[in-house]
Amino acid sequence: MSTIIITHEDFLHHDTGPGHPERPDRIRAVWMALEQEPFAALPRREAPPATPDQLKAVHLPAYVDMVLEALDEGRAARLDPDTVLSPGSRGAVLRAAGAVCAGVDAVVAGEASTVFCAVRPCGHHAEQARPMGFCVFNNVAVGMAHARNRHGIQRIACVDFDVHHGNGTQAMFYDDGDALFASTHQSPLYPGTGAESERGRYGTIINVPLAPGSATDAFMAGVERRILPALDAFKPELLFISAGFDAHADDPLAGLELEGEDFARVTRALVDVARRHCGGRIVSVLEGGYDLAGLADGCMAHVRELMAA
Ligand SMILES: [Zn+2]
Repeated sequence: MSTIIITHEDFLHHDTGPGHPERPDRIRAVWMALEQEPFAALPRREAPPATPDQLKAVHLPAYVDMVLEALDEGRAARLDPDTVLSPGSRGAVLRAAGAVCAGVDAVVAGEASTVFCAVRPCGHHAEQARPMGFCVFNNVAVGMAHARNRHGIQRIACVDFDVHHGNGTQAMFYDDGDALFASTHQSPLYPGTGAESERGRYGTIINVPLAPGSATDAFMAGVERRILPALDAFKPELLFISAGFDAHADDPLAGLELEGEDFARVTRALVDVARRHCGGRIVSVLEGGYDLAGLADGCMAHVRELMAA
């Protein structure tokens, strides 16, 4: 067993305002879940803030500078209809991306085989030059670029099982034949991208849209028939997971019917892929999940399997 949890108290202080589904209670629910056995004994590390250069490896410099300025001034700002900054957001926004970079450093150094980054806000909708759908910076993409730029790891893959399509991550790696992005998501649903026909310039984008009401069978069929074979053909040197738990049946923002055990199933399959191709190394990053019990359930199922890597 060698799994590290990377998180930070600052994730509580990103205040999205009353009634917002992406709320501080989410990270509390994750922490409480991971305080239980067998997770209580897992080493914890504090997420460091991402540096401007790490952010600018995937985001347009002008966009990074604009957000950093707002964060430094501690201004409340509405970046898009769903995405806000609060006076306390600076640590959370920077550490959410920095956690993933630290996770990469830890698995590359052999300090862990798997890492779970318990972060908020989520990241996979954020595009090169714009925030979107609760996401300010694309945390997983920042980590993927860090793996390349810092460690020379060229072939990187990200599997995104959040119920929403990871449009930002897809866009950043669309023309990159050394990056594979695979996503299961409900369709139709926000943000509206993720059709099967979106394949990327080199065929390394794999989209598995699932009809509303889809449950275990359709989800796992998509994973087993489309995503696992693509990963085996691609042979990543490092595997990332955009781990959203809003495909849970109880989630208020979507209509898939997954249960905690489904997150264990998909994680187990990805652990096997990582064992075959990249020494079991996985950096997993929390994305969505808006029913607190479903989020906690999903996280526990997911981390339990990461511990088996
Ligand atoms: Zn989501």
